Amino acid sequence: MLLPDTVGTGGDSHTRFPVGISFPAGSGLVAFAAALGVMPLDMPESVKVRFHGEMQPGITLRDLVHAIPYQAIQDGHLTVAKEGKKNIFSGRILEIEGLEHLTCEQAFELSDASAERSAAGCTIELSEDSVSDYLKSNIVMLKWMIGQGYGDARTIERRIAHMENWLSNPHLIKADKDASYAAEIDIDMSALKEPILCAPNDPDDARLLSECQGENIDEVFIGSCMTNIGHFRAAGKLLDKHEGQLPTKLWVVPPTRMDEAQLTAEGYYSIYGKVGARTEMPGCSLCMGNQARVADDCTVVSTSTRNFPNRLGKGANVFLASAELAAVSSIMGKLPTNEEYQEYMSQVNATAADTYRYLEFDKLESYSKAADEVEMGDGYWPTLKKLQENM
Ligand code: SF4
Repeated sequence: MLLPDTVGTGGDSHTRFPVGISFPAGSGLVAFAAALGVMPLDMPESVKVRFHGEMQPGITLRDLVHAIPYQAIQDGHLTVAKEGKKNIFSGRILEIEGLEHLTCEQAFELSDASAERSAAGCTIELSEDSVSDYLKSNIVMLKWMIGQGYGDARTIERRIAHMENWLSNPHLIKADKDASYAAEIDIDMSALKEPILCAPNDPDDARLLSECQGENIDEVFIGSCMTNIGHFRAAGKLLDKHEGQLPTKLWVVPPTRMDEAQLTAEGYYSIYGKVGARTEMPGCSLCMGNQARVADDCTVVSTSTRNFPNRLGKGANVFLASAELAAVSSIMGKLPTNEEYQEYMSQVNATAADTYRYLEFDKLESYSKAADEVEMGDGYWPTLKKLQENM
């Protein structure tokens, strides 16, 4: 339902929109904002993170997420030790540039993780095409929701009218050329040739795979709001090559029911079943920490947002990593060397275009056909008329 270049809020600390900007807040403030359409904000300074160069084979977006604290540590803007802790991102806005080509689904992985940086908010400069494609897809999904009886239809219709209005005259806000920042961090993707993990149990403790390789792994969790359908296809392709049962306990939990349905239709759930993975109901699952739990004191590779002590399980040591590295670790029962990892990843790289397809609802016949049959009502037409009069 997101609109570009608007300000949003929500009660979860991971309310981090990939378009516009959002500020998570306590439930009282969220209710205040919902009722009045405004919220008090002291606008903080920004930290600019600029990506440049070319992404190397085997490197995933999750590695770029972890490259932010990794580079900040190298630049002296972030320390891991609690005593005298330094964190340039804390309470500031993270402004990310240099990845304009990302889809909004991919961009969410970066904005979501700004919570782990303790940033107040996050913006990502995206191309007009990326944002337009996202809106077109979501309009179809919202119409499908109305057709399915989701409420409130009038509210959904008003959002559709706003989205269509933006699409009729697309424009995006950009940072001023002469804007000043609390710090500027440059990340050269050409120099990043191995995955970056966050070591137990601190999301700031970003380390290269070569610094963690060989660690025995007991359990692996692929899920949470940091994942999207592409991650589950990539993991499925890696797992498909494995004969027999995995030496680790693997939890596979797509974030949405739509992802689950699509992955089932594409045959990935039978691959997960074949290797003995445990699939859970779509949603937060292990990441929430109050539903299923990993075994006490075990060592885990997880794609979830944060690895604070005891969150996934009592006494668990949790490495945060990409779904791809998580899948390889589940097969090997340990963190691989970069060479071993790259060998596995060559299978995924060869079919990347198919693997990293996102759910574009406007291109899925079952959704677009249902959306075409939905008649817009009195939430839509008066809103659209008002917006067009104000243009
Ligand atoms: S997946 Fe984890 S971080 Fe994301 S919303 Fe759920 S509990 Fe929060």
